Amino acid sequence: MEYAEILHRCFRCGYCKLPDDYTGLNCPSYLKFRFETFSPGGRMWLLRAWLNGEIKTTPRFAEIMFSCATCANCVAHCVFPKFKEDILNAFLAGREALVNEGRVPPAVRDYFKAMQIHGNPYKLPEADRGKWADGLGLETFSGQEYLFYVGCEGAYDERGRKMARSVAGLFKDGGLSFGILGVEERSDGNEILSLGESALFERMARENLRKFQSLNIKKIVTLSPHAYHAIKNEYPKFGSDLQVFHYSQVLENLVRKIPLQPKETPFRVTFHDPCYLGRHNKEYRAPRKVLTALRGIHLVEMDRSKENALCCGGGGGNFFTDLLGSGPDSPARARVREAADTGAQILAVACPNCAKMLEDAVKVEELEDQIRVMDLAEIVQSPLF
Ligand code: SF4
Ligand code: SF4
Repeated sequence: MEYAEILHRCFRCGYCKLPDDYTGLNCPSYLKFRFETFSPGGRMWLLRAWLNGEIKTTPRFAEIMFSCATCANCVAHCVFPKFKEDILNAFLAGREALVNEGRVPPAVRDYFKAMQIHGNPYKLPEADRGKWADGLGLETFSGQEYLFYVGCEGAYDERGRKMARSVAGLFKDGGLSFGILGVEERSDGNEILSLGESALFERMARENLRKFQSLNIKKIVTLSPHAYHAIKNEYPKFGSDLQVFHYSQVLENLVRKIPLQPKETPFRVTFHDPCYLGRHNKEYRAPRKVLTALRGIHLVEMDRSKENALCCGGGGGNFFTDLLGSGPDSPARARVREAADTGAQILAVACPNCAKMLEDAVKVEELEDQIRVMDLAEIVQSPLF
């Protein structure tokens, strides 16, 4: 297994499951399960024991390996600079080894099956992929400056569709030159890769690149930070030289061109950094720039933000496989309590997965009267601000 040689270097000090100031638990799977094997250090030692043949491949072992949300808190906070960058890569290599053995949890197997049969995890027809844009009058891509890529969540998930429509509406209002692929769009494959199916990911990436090249696409703006990450950082391994943006990075400039009504009473808003935009790609500024461009907003930070942000638990395929499960210690519920503690009325998000995870958690925590989850584009479009 690739990265096997780094596993012994971890001395299980445990700092990687914490934020900078060592308060709170920042590894979502450890927060939820509170067993050392679900922490980064524990998971690393478990993987080592497995590779050494000291433990067998059991459903429990597979569950532990696949419950990592790939949030990269451990990468950001491991005290050992010489190998911190490869911690998550080692976990992904462990998952790949399990995929190759055919020993993955049932929920992961079902995810792969849905992707192979339907091309999307919702098991919906490919013919419905473009429905999110119905009635918006958007142009099909034919040489515009940007391709707006919405991904499976933007195309099929009700919450994601709402977000995709808001973002597209703002792009239109701001006069952005963009087109969409609609029914021709295909999954970016980020979750496939994070679940260890690298061969399938490569096929998906190459197919997408062929499509992008045939249309002479140069710039892509994505709805999801997950697609942004895959296309920006993984596709170049297969020859891509695309310029890739997350929609907050395009909105940051566009928001100044959209006429906005200044409001008398500012709303308190706090922003939840998506792991695949923040820790994975170090973009903390653009979403905050969008928010602070609105005069009706007073931005407040949660105790854990930017590099220290607590993941909502939706990364690494968990949005679909739900291996982290529910309960008061689920990361999404812990995160909305933290957001509500700031006194913010709005919890701003910039990822369709975060939007759904956190919106559901607000309901379960019965915080609906206190705080509302809104995407950046929905906030910009809202008559409230
Ligand atoms: S991964 Fe790094 S921070 Fe975490 S337990 Fe191992 S050495 Fe310590
Ligand atoms: S990537 Fe996140 S969930 Fe996975 S072990 Fe590291 S801190 Fe925990």
